[in-house]
Amino acid sequence: MSSTAHLGERASGLSFLNPAAPEPWASFLEQIDRVAPHMGGLAKWVETLKHPKRIMIVDVPIHRDDGTVAHYEGYRVQHNLSRGPGKGGVRFHPAVTLNEVMALSGWMTIKNAALNLPYGGAKGGIRLDPRAHSRDELERITRRYTSEIGVVIGPGKDIPAPDVGTNEQTMAWMMDTYSMNVGSTSTGVVTGKPISLGGSLGRHEATGRGVFIAAREAGRRSNVPIAGARVVVQGFGNVGGIAARMFHEAGARVVALQDHSATVANEAGIDIPAALAHAAANGGLQGFAGAAPVSGDDFWLIPSDYLVPAALEGQILPERAQTIKTRIVVEGANGPTTPAADDILRERGILVVPDVLANAGGVTVSYFEWVQDFSSFFWSEDEINQRLERIMIGAFEAIWTLAAERKVSLRTATFIIACQRVLAAREQRGLYP
Ligand code: GLU
Repeated sequence: MSSTAHLGERASGLSFLNPAAPEPWASFLEQIDRVAPHMGGLAKWVETLKHPKRIMIVDVPIHRDDGTVAHYEGYRVQHNLSRGPGKGGVRFHPAVTLNEVMALSGWMTIKNAALNLPYGGAKGGIRLDPRAHSRDELERITRRYTSEIGVVIGPGKDIPAPDVGTNEQTMAWMMDTYSMNVGSTSTGVVTGKPISLGGSLGRHEATGRGVFIAAREAGRRSNVPIAGARVVVQGFGNVGGIAARMFHEAGARVVALQDHSATVANEAGIDIPAALAHAAANGGLQGFAGAAPVSGDDFWLIPSDYLVPAALEGQILPERAQTIKTRIVVEGANGPTTPAADDILRERGILVVPDVLANAGGVTVSYFEWVQDFSSFFWSEDEINQRLERIMIGAFEAIWTLAAERKVSLRTATFIIACQRVLAAREQRGLYP
């Protein structure tokens, strides 16, 4: 096992980065502009969504294992708190920027409102390569970051969770650090914790499970059955890996996978449990014998029924949108498709199930975890998965119906529903003072 295997495979390298991609916050602003004409009497409040409520930039100094002192830049952005406390993950990645964290926090506002979870939207991040740090260094970084943002987080204020490059262990350190600082154990300050520390059954799988539910619901309405479907997945960690497993179990043929270490394809269908075991043992897909290596560019040309980008933002740009051969894109990642590429996919008749719906299963079960922590009463995994299904299916149905009525994309319909909720709360609360 590699020294950083405890991070999980979501700690992706830089290979997914596309320098031609627009800044994520610019994409978010454009998505808000597209929804503004649908806001009716609430239009006066739309600007709220273009201004994050609070941005915190912190210096995170630690002693490295060799005794030197290193500084990292960390962020916590609370995009909107109109409907409840902030909620959203913390990303550890070498390419984290404030611009990116702002966009990710905005997408959390939309996601939480679209699913009708009683939260605003927030996100955090630290620019560092988790693979280049020991476990001890990561613990020191996490603890210092948590202390620095400690004034703005809390179970009723803002509740972090895992994202790319962070995991249950990171959340355990965050929970402990916050608890030490406030003087009592506070499990509800973060979600995505280990089960033994107030975590929830089903949380680890929830994002991937939600991606699968969203795909299934889209497929059912578009006559693209999962059984026998060709599936291509980018990202093979907590989101892509679990979604791939669920597609595989439902009788789909996963014909190509890409992660930070390799791109592989097998026309006969990849043995997903074997690929997951290989990735867990080796830190990635590289060297997996059950599929042949292909080039990163060819990956996007492999024909599929479902294409699941589940890595980072800025993956489907106009050029790729012109040549992708799929029927349904299910966004496991946040922000993988730019607005210009979105338009091209729509013109080409390719259905896009947007991130703010497709990957909302994670934060939905985070909500369940937070509720369980408050009541110190824990639910069974069946109960959690049933409630997740119910919430995802209900949100999907409402979004699908609105998209048909207004003749808009599923993304715009999701934004309409979410923005109406956020801006109605904004209006009802009014401005202080
Ligand atoms: N990081 C995940 C997301 O992008 C989960 C956030 C959470 O559970 O709060 O939705």
